[in-house]
Amino acid sequence: MLKVIQSPAKYLQGPDASTLFGQYAKNLADSFFVIADDFVMKLAGEKVLNGLHSHDISCHAERFNGECSHVEINRLIAILKKHGCRGVVGIGGGKTLDTAKAIGYYQKLPVVVIPTIASTDAPTSALSVIYTEAGEFEEYLIYPKNPDMVVMDTAIIAKAPVRLLVAGMGDALSTWFEAKACYDARATSMAGGQSTVAALSLARLCYDTLLAEGEKARLAAQAGVVTDALERIVEANTYLSGIGFESSGLAGAHAIHNGFTILEECHHLYHGEKVAFGTLAQLVLQNSPMEEIETVLNFCQKVGLPVTLAEMGVKDDIDGKIMAVAKATCAEGETIHNMPFPVTPESVHAAILTADLLGQQWLAR
Ligand SMILES: [Zn+2]
Repeated sequence: MLKVIQSPAKYLQGPDASTLFGQYAKNLADSFFVIADDFVMKLAGEKVLNGLHSHDISCHAERFNGECSHVEINRLIAILKKHGCRGVVGIGGGKTLDTAKAIGYYQKLPVVVIPTIASTDAPTSALSVIYTEAGEFEEYLIYPKNPDMVVMDTAIIAKAPVRLLVAGMGDALSTWFEAKACYDARATSMAGGQSTVAALSLARLCYDTLLAEGEKARLAAQAGVVTDALERIVEANTYLSGIGFESSGLAGAHAIHNGFTILEECHHLYHGEKVAFGTLAQLVLQNSPMEEIETVLNFCQKVGLPVTLAEMGVKDDIDGKIMAVAKATCAEGETIHNMPFPVTPESVHAAILTADLLGQQWLAR
């Protein structure tokens, strides 16, 4: 099988990147269709529109209704066509960015995504999650290419709620361990081939960056300011983790995350918070050395990611609930089967319960 690595064509990051990107966007199109929800349009719309206008790029801004559904995508495409725009810009969170990617794909136009938070590694990827109008999962759309440009304005991201940046660190925490598992198993990644050493190295750099800069970055975000550590964590959460997961692959941690989504009491958690606990469970599942487990426990405690079931909100009927989570984790087609050894619901159940006790013991030191 071929080795494949893919990435966005351009990645920009820094304070006020959402204004300065116009210089690069003009090479993609001379007119853009810009979407954001009301909150984000107030927060960042002016910066983005000024950035385009200052380079003589025309644009039409349109309100995103909040759901990445085929109905909403088609509604926006109709407006885009009326205005004859030659490119798409999405500003905001995952659903807005996914909608912008879908519009670009269907209309064969260049796509610029401008995340206003660094809470997941999804922005750089060549996929969208499509929901029904009622907000239920419908399908994944996998595109032939990644966004043409990803723009991270750290001045905006530093002002977002700290818990979102920390959740992004949780999503990034799993990247190295899942990439390594996929590499060892010679699994097929989302990019459609085996992992390159390049993608594996970015995944490792992602993990090393979290350990070195995570706590400092959380404090900067708490103060609402941009520091070098915050810059490095935004890059790790978005770019390093993004290439790492897409071009190396997902394995135990994300499958265990998916298992936890069946529990009502976990619905208040962000994606990356569940992924962090899933990472701890994967380490137990693969019997990682105690030193490595303690490094991860220490990191989670320092930045504020959950390491016990109680912190995840799971407090009663634990055995039965975790068996149900383990069964969902091992469903056919789940990425748990990318682990380099056979995994069963029983072994996942055992790993989660042991991870919980390791977490409890760590917090009680
Ligand atoms: Zn993730």
